[in-house]
Amino acid sequence: MSCETQLGIGFTSDRTRQRFLDRLVAQGIVEPAVLDAFKRIPRHYFVPDPALHSRAYDDIPLPIGHHQTVSQPYIVGLMTEMALRGASRLGRVLEIGTGSGYQTAVLSCLADKVYTIERIGELLDSARERLLTLGISNVEYRHGDGYLGWPGRGPYDVILLTSAPPQIPFRLLQQLAVKGRLLGPVGTKQQQRLVVADRTSDGFKESLGEAVRFVPMLKEIV
Ligand code: SAH
Repeated sequence: MSCETQLGIGFTSDRTRQRFLDRLVAQGIVEPAVLDAFKRIPRHYFVPDPALHSRAYDDIPLPIGHHQTVSQPYIVGLMTEMALRGASRLGRVLEIGTGSGYQTAVLSCLADKVYTIERIGELLDSARERLLTLGISNVEYRHGDGYLGWPGRGPYDVILLTSAPPQIPFRLLQQLAVKGRLLGPVGTKQQQRLVVADRTSDGFKESLGEAVRFVPMLKEIV
């Protein structure tokens, strides 16, 4: 496993950690590899405001600056499980929207390699620093527009969006390997559904999942 080093940046207490894991299980996150990744990655370390560290193991999104949020743990777990589909590893993953790097870190435990793109340079720099401090080395970072993907590193087994475009960008589908899966929120600011698109040998198969609420996927790089 690639995210073993923790440098003593532990959870606030064993009790907090156990409650956090118990709640994820109660919500239906049952895949041992996913729970193990949650066990290893200290979420409070991804929340820049120390005043909010005590809320880091609640099932809520929290602000990370630049009007963005670290995703809710349940949603991180759900998307990671949907990406795994019962397999034990994820292969090559493209993540659009690094944000704090929390989901990136969870994915890094399960993936051979994670390629992550963020449009806000300062968020990307902080995320990179956090993951390197945690000893996570199987991640490549790119400051750019996720709508374009990262064709030079594809095709990907998994493409995961952490912000919502109005529809699935075709350019991203093109970077998916055959048998690969793209998943993420799609819709308007008010109304979004989780969408799964599987690439088959002769096209794509899409299915709609539950209603979700993510920040919108934007175009300009800042
Ligand atoms: N999974 C992240 C969630 C971050 S919120 C975490 O756990 O912290 C979604 C992120 O997507 C934001 O950081 C936002 O800046 C980024 N984003 C939005 N549109 C983007 C685009 N076109 N390309 C890359 N990143 C984008």
